[in-house]
Amino acid sequence: MSDCTSPKAKILIVDDDQTKVMAIEAVLEGLNQTIITVASGGEALRRLLSEDVAVILLDVNMPEMDGFETAELIRQRRRSEHTPIIFLTAHADDAFEDRGYALGAVDYLLMPATPNMLRAKVGVFVDLFHKGEQVKRQAEQRIQLAQEQAARIEAERASVAKSQFLTNISHELRTPMTAIIGMTDLSLVEPISPKVREYLHAVHSNAHLLLELLNEILDLSKLESGTLTLESAPLQLGKILGELQHTFSHRAEQKGLKFEVITAPELPEHLVGDSLRLRQVIFNFLTNALKVTDQGRVALEVGVESVCNREAWVSFSVSDTGIGISHLDQERIVSPFTQVDASTKRRRDGAGLGLAISADLIRAMGGRRTVRSELGKGSQFSFVIPLLIDKGKLDAIPTTTELAETRLADVLSPASAKLPLTVLLAEDTPTNQVLVRHALNKRGHQVVIAGDGKTAVELTQNRQFDLILMDLQMPDMDGFEATAMIRRLPGRQPPIIALTAHTMVGDRDRCLSAGMQDYLSKPIDLRKLISTVEAVAYDALEASPRHSL
Ligand code: ADP
Repeated sequence: MSDCTSPKAKILIVDDDQTKVMAIEAVLEGLNQTIITVASGGEALRRLLSEDVAVILLDVNMPEMDGFETAELIRQRRRSEHTPIIFLTAHADDAFEDRGYALGAVDYLLMPATPNMLRAKVGVFVDLFHKGEQVKRQAEQRIQLAQEQAARIEAERASVAKSQFLTNISHELRTPMTAIIGMTDLSLVEPISPKVREYLHAVHSNAHLLLELLNEILDLSKLESGTLTLESAPLQLGKILGELQHTFSHRAEQKGLKFEVITAPELPEHLVGDSLRLRQVIFNFLTNALKVTDQGRVALEVGVESVCNREAWVSFSVSDTGIGISHLDQERIVSPFTQVDASTKRRRDGAGLGLAISADLIRAMGGRRTVRSELGKGSQFSFVIPLLIDKGKLDAIPTTTELAETRLADVLSPASAKLPLTVLLAEDTPTNQVLVRHALNKRGHQVVIAGDGKTAVELTQNRQFDLILMDLQMPDMDGFEATAMIRRLPGRQPPIIALTAHTMVGDRDRCLSAGMQDYLSKPIDLRKLISTVEAVAYDALEASPRHSL
C-alpha cells in the first residue's frame, strides 16, 4: 500500500490489442497507480530506457517482436534486469510457460482474466515496489544520518584539537612574554636616557597589545569550546566603575571628549558575579566608543531594571556620539574578526574580536544585549545581566587595576617593604629566574633559586624560607609533586605561591587543593608578584613568627 509521501508506482502494459489494453487499464485503475501502455516490444524497450516500472504486463503474441524476445532483451538491460514480468496469453500451454519462466517471468495470466485476479496479481508487485522504495529511502536516511554524525564528531574533534593547540601555544607565548614585559618594566626604573626610555615604552605598550590579542584569542576559544567558567564572588561594582571612570576620563580628555559615568541611586551595594568578565565587557564597549568618537561625548550608564528576591537585573549602557553603524553592519560586527570597513579599520587597532567575546560573555552571564545606532550620529551598546545580591560582608580587596596604577618604581623601592623576606624560587626558565630575583631583590628580599622541583624539596629540607614561588611546569619533578613532598616535611611550613603559564579552567582550584596558598599566572605582573608575595608571606609570619621556631 502506498502512503501519501511515496510516489506512484508505474505499471507498463505491452500489448498490440487495443481492446484488451483498455480492459486491463479499466481493471487496474482501482490500484491508483500510473499506467503506461505501449503497443510493441520495441516501444516497451524504449520506455524502459528512461523509466523504472513496478511490473510489466507483456503480451506473448505480438507482430515483429514477440513477448519472449522482448523479455530476453529486457533482462539483458541492467536497469530492468530484475523488473517483474507477467506474461499475458490466451493459451494454457506448459511448453509456453516453461519458456516464459526460463526468460525470467514471475507469473502468467491466462486471458481473459477475472478483474480480481488481475488486480491481486499486479497489486502484489505494486506493494513490493513501494516496500522496496521505502527500504531505499530508509537506507538513504540512515546514510545521511551517519554522515551527519561523522561530520559532527569530526567538528567536535577539530574543536578540541583547536582548543588544545591554543592552550599550548598560549603557554609557549606567555613564557617569552613574561621575559619581555618584565625586563622592560625593570629597565624602565633604571636611570636611562630619554631616547632609550621612549624605545622601551614602545616595547612595553606593544608587548601589552600582543598579550591582549593572545588573551582575546584564548577567551574566544574557551567560549567556543564551552570551557570558560564564570566566577561567582562578591563584586564591588562601585569600585569597578570608579576604575573605569579613572582610566577612560583620562583617555577622553586626551581626545577632547566629555566622559560621564552615571549610576542609578537604587543600585544595590553588594552584588555577586564575575567582576573580571563584567569589567571586560564594559571595557570593550568603552574602548570602542572612544576609538570611534572624535567629538562630543561618551557615557556609561548603570541602572537597575528589576529586583526580585535576591536577584537584581542590572543594566549597562555605553553611548557615544561617534561614527555610528549602519543597520546592516550592526549584527555583522558581532562575528569574530569583523570590522565595519577598511577606512574605519585604518584608524583603529584591534582584531575585531572584542564584540564577539562580549556578546558570548553576556550570554554566558545569562544576560541580553542590544545595539542602537545611526550612521554619523552615534551608537548605544547596552546589556542587562542578573546579579545576586550579597547580604554578607565584603572585604576591601585591592583590584588588579588599582595595583597597576601604583607606580612600579614605588612598588620596587625597598623603603616600602615591611620586613626583608627569604624566598625560594623554583623555576627552570633562566630569564624568569633573573626577572623575579631582580624584582624581589629591589624590595630588599633575598631569593634562593632552585632549577627544578627536586632541588626545591632538598633546599626546603635544609633551610627556612618565608615563602616559596613554585613554577608548575618543570622537568623531572613538577610543581604539584614538589609541593606534595614539601607538605609532608616536618616543621614550619612556608606558604607556596604557584607560577604558571597555563590558563586552564580549574588551575587555581588544583593549586589550592594541592596545598598552595595562591596562584600567579604568567606573564608575571611585577606589581602583582610583589603585592602577592608580601601579603601571603607577612600573613604567614604573623600566624607563625620566625622566633617561635
Ligand atoms: P575591534 O575593536 O578589535 O575592531 P570589536 O569586535 O570590538 O573589534 O569591534 C568590531 C568593529 O565594530 C569595530 O572594528 C568597528 O568597526 C565596529 N564598532 C564597534 N563599536 C563601535 C561603535 N561604538 N561605533 C561604531 N562602530 C563600532
